[in-house]
Amino acid sequence: MRVLVVEDEKRIAADVGATLRNAGYVVETTEDGEEAWFLGDTEDYDLIVLDLGLPKMDGLAVLKRWRAAGRTIPVLVLTARGAWSERVEGIDAGADDYLPKPFHMEELVARARALIRRSAGHGGPVISAGRLTLDTRQMRVTAGGVPVNLTPLEYRLVAYLIHHHDRTVPAPELLEHLYGTDDGREANALEALVARLRKKLGPRSIETRRGFGYTIDADAA
Ligand code: CA
Repeated sequence: MRVLVVEDEKRIAADVGATLRNAGYVVETTEDGEEAWFLGDTEDYDLIVLDLGLPKMDGLAVLKRWRAAGRTIPVLVLTARGAWSERVEGIDAGADDYLPKPFHMEELVARARALIRRSAGHGGPVISAGRLTLDTRQMRVTAGGVPVNLTPLEYRLVAYLIHHHDRTVPAPELLEHLYGTDDGREANALEALVARLRKKLGPRSIETRRGFGYTIDADAA
């Protein structure tokens, strides 16, 4: 899962970035509104955390532009404490949720998880795909009820595929959400990772559909 953090206060940006990385997300950060608008308009994120007071273009204007352009990425807005009018404006501009500053990092992570799974069409924190279960709170995967020991990278891959288990995920999309952009990872690295996961989850747990991408094969897992 790939998250963009837009925040010009360096300490908050660093804390939020570190917290989300620890929670298993690939995190990119930017400090100004113009770059945020461009990234949100051209890149594919699972969530954007957006501060409202930003240099170059304020957060509300950025959010309105994304929504006007039909961008539906979930957006969590960071507002000043007690500024109820900011919260109203943020939600009216198309925010999916808000968090008043200062906030506890645990709350940020809980809201991030909820927004990401809801935008993928899942209501609860535990998502099942056939014999596979993903507990997004514990960051744990079970196969047939048995916990599977995964590395952080393996977890990210399985989590992404289970969130999107109703479709085939193209390799470039999967790479982007695993590593972020500009990483230069190749499709063969992905294939090696999938091969390791098949050993842990079952030989037919993840299906490679040549030319199309990857699907969690829920029944065979
Ligand atoms: Ca700010």
